[in-house]
Amino acid sequence: MGRTVLHCDMNNFYASVERLYDERLKQVPVVVCGNVEKRHGIVLAKSEEAKKCGVKTGDPLWMALQKCPSAVAVEPHFERYVKYSRLATQIYEEYTDLVEPFGLDENWLDVTASRLAFGDGVTIGNRLRERMKKELGLTISVGVSFNKVFAKLGSDRKKPDGLTLISEENFREVVWPLPVEELFGVGRQTLAFFRRFGILTVGDLAHANDTLLKHKMGKVGAQLKAWANGGDESPVLSREEQNPMKSVGHGLTTPKDLTTPEEVWHLILELCQDIGEKLRRYKRKARGIALDCKDRNLVSRSVQKTLPAPTDNTMTLAKEAFSLFQSRFTLSEPLRAVTVRAISLEEEGATQLSLFAEDNAPSRSSAIDRVTDQIRHRYGKDALKSATLLDRALPDSHGYIPFRGFEPQEEK
Ligand SMILES: [Mg+2]
Repeated sequence: MGRTVLHCDMNNFYASVERLYDERLKQVPVVVCGNVEKRHGIVLAKSEEAKKCGVKTGDPLWMALQKCPSAVAVEPHFERYVKYSRLATQIYEEYTDLVEPFGLDENWLDVTASRLAFGDGVTIGNRLRERMKKELGLTISVGVSFNKVFAKLGSDRKKPDGLTLISEENFREVVWPLPVEELFGVGRQTLAFFRRFGILTVGDLAHANDTLLKHKMGKVGAQLKAWANGGDESPVLSREEQNPMKSVGHGLTTPKDLTTPEEVWHLILELCQDIGEKLRRYKRKARGIALDCKDRNLVSRSVQKTLPAPTDNTMTLAKEAFSLFQSRFTLSEPLRAVTVRAISLEEEGATQLSLFAEDNAPSRSSAIDRVTDQIRHRYGKDALKSATLLDRALPDSHGYIPFRGFEPQEEK
């Protein structure tokens, strides 16, 4: 069985949210418009009734009011839209962690893995429509399909508060008779070209001549034709995939110049506590480390290096950053600011074992990291710092730092 992808589109989103905040708007057509006072603002969104009067997004307000004299114009409140967008996402995320937004009011959900727990796509889609109405007071239209392009097409079919299933069995009947511009990715220029060559419906595109498409449109033409035939393979991206973390960095400008290696070590260790914590929280490991030092004349220099093995361990990061400092910097000019960045991040689990066994051993200091994270999470960042932050001891020639309060011990 193939994928199950939902596309959920909140109906008349801005206008619907404004109605939640003002009872009086429930009985009248609503247009959301920048600069209501000046009357030459532009319509950003409208309710279903205003749409029926012919009001279009982009109309000047005076024109919208001519078309729909009973409409009430309100100014937009983006913080409200962001709030309701988040609330909707929270509901979607109860069904899958693959939720990909498209603007504030649309989301794709890949529920393939959720079918066992929650039922098929139609069941989940209907459940979502009910919950949106009951919990948020908003309606959504849902498209249920085996890919993103058809799911989006589906959510456009029945508005407001509808659900449309476009399956591998029925898509030829449902999708092919539709005007070709309803397909995702067919913009005004593409449409003009299609019309010139008699491609008027999605079905026409599905059967269009490959040579013509390729000659006139290159890769895009072939892709649109594949989409018309149900061949969209693009995945619904999780939040992390949409916004992959490239590096985690932390820097501080010190109130007083740093003049000794001890002071630099102290600061690096403090920075690495935050960095390590973030890496562990997002389940990333760094394959490299970068150090940026700015002297008191504000001249800055950056260096970086690859680590022997990927790590999220605070003390390893700090030692590596400090050894980088010692090998590449002198304190001929006192320092004013230091930034450490964990770079070349990889997801946990992707880690290849190092050739050197000691790099792989689950270390005592990872256990310390875990406990430290919990305490810092509960009581705040300053609740617990490595003892070295207090006694300022430097790593010895083996990179080992004598803890105060812990018995010195090599990592095994
Ligand atoms: Mg919408």
